[in-house]
Amino acid sequence: MKKGARISLLVLLAAGLWLALKPTAGNRRLTFLPVHWSEYVDFMDFWFNLGAFALLAATAWLAFGTWKKVLGRACLITGFITLLNVMLELLQSSIPGRAMDLADVWAGLLGCVLGIVGSMAVQLMTEGRKSSDGIPQVLFLDQTGRLGGAELMLLDIASARAADSEVVLFQDGEFRSALENAGVKTRVLRLDDEASSVNKQAGLLHVLRSIPGIVQLILQTAQASRSFDVVYANTAKALIIGGPAARLAGRPLIFHLHDIIADGHFSPINQCALIFCANCFADRVIANSEATKDAFVARGGRAELCVVIPNGFHIPEERTNKDDLKKLRFSCLNIPSDAFIVLMAGRLAHWKGQHVLLEALKPMPSAHAVLLGDALFTDEDREYAHRLHAQADESELTGRVHFAGFQSDTLAYFDLADVVVHASVFPEPFGRVIVEGMLAGKPVIASRAGGAAEIVSHEHTGLLVDPGNVNELAEALMRLQHDSAFAARLALNAQQTARDVYALPAVQRQIENLIRKAGKYKTDPIPGTDTAPSATQAA
Ligand code: UDP
Repeated sequence: MKKGARISLLVLLAAGLWLALKPTAGNRRLTFLPVHWSEYVDFMDFWFNLGAFALLAATAWLAFGTWKKVLGRACLITGFITLLNVMLELLQSSIPGRAMDLADVWAGLLGCVLGIVGSMAVQLMTEGRKSSDGIPQVLFLDQTGRLGGAELMLLDIASARAADSEVVLFQDGEFRSALENAGVKTRVLRLDDEASSVNKQAGLLHVLRSIPGIVQLILQTAQASRSFDVVYANTAKALIIGGPAARLAGRPLIFHLHDIIADGHFSPINQCALIFCANCFADRVIANSEATKDAFVARGGRAELCVVIPNGFHIPEERTNKDDLKKLRFSCLNIPSDAFIVLMAGRLAHWKGQHVLLEALKPMPSAHAVLLGDALFTDEDREYAHRLHAQADESELTGRVHFAGFQSDTLAYFDLADVVVHASVFPEPFGRVIVEGMLAGKPVIASRAGGAAEIVSHEHTGLLVDPGNVNELAEALMRLQHDSAFAARLALNAQQTARDVYALPAVQRQIENLIRKAGKYKTDPIPGTDTAPSATQAA
């Protein structure tokens, strides 16, 4: 809601309340309303008034947040409304048959002065806190303890400002160890079982049952947020918890949106909750691609909140040496020396499309697939992993599919590959593995949808194929296998583009500037850091 709209809504609500609640004295109630309105209003009872007050309180809270701000605005609005009352009282004296009541005028003026003074006092009390060294203190929130793409991005952001940040996780796991190894203070605030089992597909009943656990976590998070300048929600559940918590604590909220909000990924109720929370509570939404932003806006998200910042990546100075590559190839994975190695990295999940790659490899007898990653999040993912193992055992693929499991250090796997494939069957919000393949100097093939299609420029920095199209993927793979000059050209362009567009320091600087703006700190003086160049611009 825009600030002007919020204030107008509040004024309207407050004026309505004032009309409803103005004490009755003979027939002088609501003197400036037409008589029949006044009579109608006389029928309003206690419950109406109570409901109206609750509505005002809820609107004020949604519009302005903390009780101090609500109090400040309420005082100000009361002041103006009583001033209006005085003016009406004065005007009334010019209507034949009506007289001005001096007591009302004085009472109105007093109310006006008290309201405005009260509002100024509250304003002084709520002057924002600033850390003494001029660096905003940030509380990052993330729902999972597992290491997905969103968490790897947060790991980089939080570890670059470890002294001025803390990360709250709603689940324990290897993400916490990774953060702590990077020197980031971390704490786990657990969601109860009912609430933590709400997934992206959850229905209304399930969501309702999870409410008590969610409320408790919101209060704990609000308490934690009070020691920080800015709250930064890195996942969908982190927004649902962090939004109201930041509001209660009176802290600005940044939401980093790593997902495409659409039917394949979220249930309708979850989509509504996400959009509502982002629109009401977030000061800024960082979308990791134009596709992510478009989906957010298409579902009702406020476009003006959104800034597109892609993921950033460390550019390693050294790649894997030959001996380590040999060890990986022959000892760890047992891949013959003449094999054409196709790497697919990322968690095992149906929408990531590992099955599409395995199908495409059937007519390519010298191609071996290395599947790097594990089923990370859901039971469906674990079932899918079993189905993949069964598919890999089919006669056309025997011995050619290598499940490498989850690896915290992936560099050598990218260096070993002849080609890196991304085969998501749903639009990918960003697709870190594509950039990692490009940085490794490998030709990449990606699905033509979502953020992946923004990263890869077809025939220039890689090849794009239609999502789920086995034949097209197989043709692209064969083309790269047999035309090594073309593959090398794509790889070179890709590496240069990835270095130009996705280097971590520039991305960190943009995010830091958003944090500073949200926390009302001075921003980085380096110009042009509000948005990143897109891959297509760089190409
Ligand atoms: N990854 C990893 N170890 C693995 C498999 C994947 O560290 O065994 C990393 C991968 O390098 C990438 C991230 O997990 O940085 C996956 O990010 P992506 O955007 O591709 O997918 P997401 O998990 O966000 O859907």
